[in-house]
Amino acid sequence: MNPATTRPGHSANGHARTTNVSAPTVRRAVLNRPYHQPMYPHLCLGGVEVEYPCGKVEVLALLHTRGIDRLPPHTVVDLRINSECLTGDIFNDGACDCTYQLFRAAQMINDWQGEGPPVEMGEVAVRPGLIVYPFGHEGRGEGWVTKLEAYEPETGMFNVKGDSRDFSSAVVSLKHFGISAVRLITNNPHKEGVVSEAGIRVTEVIPVVSDDPRHAVLLDHKRRVYGHRIPVCIRPPEGV
Ligand SMILES: [Zn+2]
Repeated sequence: MNPATTRPGHSANGHARTTNVSAPTVRRAVLNRPYHQPMYPHLCLGGVEVEYPCGKVEVLALLHTRGIDRLPPHTVVDLRINSECLTGDIFNDGACDCTYQLFRAAQMINDWQGEGPPVEMGEVAVRPGLIVYPFGHEGRGEGWVTKLEAYEPETGMFNVKGDSRDFSSAVVSLKHFGISAVRLITNNPHKEGVVSEAGIRVTEVIPVVSDDPRHAVLLDHKRRVYGHRIPVCIRPPEGV
């Protein structure tokens, strides 16, 4: 995370408060561009540029239901924060489950038939949902070459040890769109912590577990090493 510095300030009611002077801000956002994918007719493409006081600019891609920026207050949004994965999402390498999670989440958001009334957002009433896709998260934020160096032929995994991912640009984007409550689509308790600590209420965590046998070793690793909520019944094949 970016180091934060604070300075005293005063809120509108005169009470003293602290202001995070190094907080990132949304510089511009583009929403509701057509997504030419017939499987997800309710989803649109979008993007956000987030600027930091140090001059750094981060870009996030969005997949979202129309009207995500003009929801009634306290609307619960289905949310997935899906870190960039070039190997899977661009080069279609099946080593990891990132791409499965990305498009399973897109399907969940597009097809949601859960409890609660849909929200009227323009011409159609659908469940509000959003996938935030931060660039710069390749190899758990350690980078493309580090990821390739971390490949293990024995397990078939890119076993990157560190994790430099910064989720602040995702959080500031959610707040920019007025999102205050989410159903989080993830197996990763760390992402739940990131969202909760930002003051965004997580009303439910929705798992997204690949059933592709190629991912069994990786899922077992994520459960044991990172505490992901993955059923113990998902085991790697004997001898791996
Ligand atoms: Zn991946």
